[in-house]
Amino acid sequence: MKLAGRVAIVTGGTRGIGKAIVWSLAREGAKVAFVYRSNAEAAEQLVKDLELDQREVLAIQGDVANKESADAIVEQVIEKWEKVDILVNNAGIIKDGLLATMSADQWGDVITTNLNSVYNFCQAVTRPMMSARYGRIINMSSVSAHYGNSGQSNYAASKGGMEGFTRCLATELARRGITVNAVAPGFIETDMTEAVRNAAGSEIKKKIPVRRLGLPDDIANAVTFLASDDASYITGHVLTVDGGLTLGGL
Ligand code: NAP
Repeated sequence: MKLAGRVAIVTGGTRGIGKAIVWSLAREGAKVAFVYRSNAEAAEQLVKDLELDQREVLAIQGDVANKESADAIVEQVIEKWEKVDILVNNAGIIKDGLLATMSADQWGDVITTNLNSVYNFCQAVTRPMMSARYGRIINMSSVSAHYGNSGQSNYAASKGGMEGFTRCLATELARRGITVNAVAPGFIETDMTEAVRNAAGSEIKKKIPVRRLGLPDDIANAVTFLASDDASYITGHVLTVDGGLTLGGL
């Protein structure tokens, strides 16, 4: 087990990609605290399932966009397990719309949930990780940060900002044994993409060289690798996991 003895925090752990990351880190031996916003039932069920599988897990309700909430969550995890080795900033939302009609809330909600949350949690774990001289931070970006997707200016700004942040923080923390990376998923089968999949699923597949949509486990595998000691010489990197979607081939 590659993460035996490690302690991880995963934001947005109850569904989709986050849930797969929680399972993957836990199966590699990490104790995992996951954050959810609203679905207590899903959180309870996930805790039950993981405990049945003999994994150590903790569900914490909170809003990642709120700095006090992030500070309290990190404090709670350190109180329980004495440290934080791995932080996965996975929670994110979309509120797509053309800029001409995009409301200030539509802009602000996406920026605060997807980008301010990364500041909130990274800031909260930086000191404990620096003292421990060890850390793995993985931020969940998107290929939408890399190419123009009409209707996603708020989302692309949040993810592009996150990638710049990742590179800066990587240089700040490298000497302390802390790596900071991002993963940029392509088109993954989760609730977030349900509407687009229903409308254009087979058309999307044609644009992906591997000819299938991504699964949450495809992303979880990449995150788990970056969280492991095998990735200790990788920092400030954005790892695209998209089945070739953004290669630009025919
Ligand atoms: P999802 O199925 O919609 O799940 C989102 C998760 O984030 C849920 O657990 C949700 O908790 C949590 N969350 C949202 N806002 C939150 C907040 N304010 N505070 C705490 N938790 C919050 O999304 P997904 O598709 O798994 O996406 C996960 C990440 O991957 C996101 O950052 C997304 O931008 C990124 N991504 C996804 C795709 C894709 O194709 N799916 C592609 C590229 C990037 P509740 O259930 O409690 O609301």
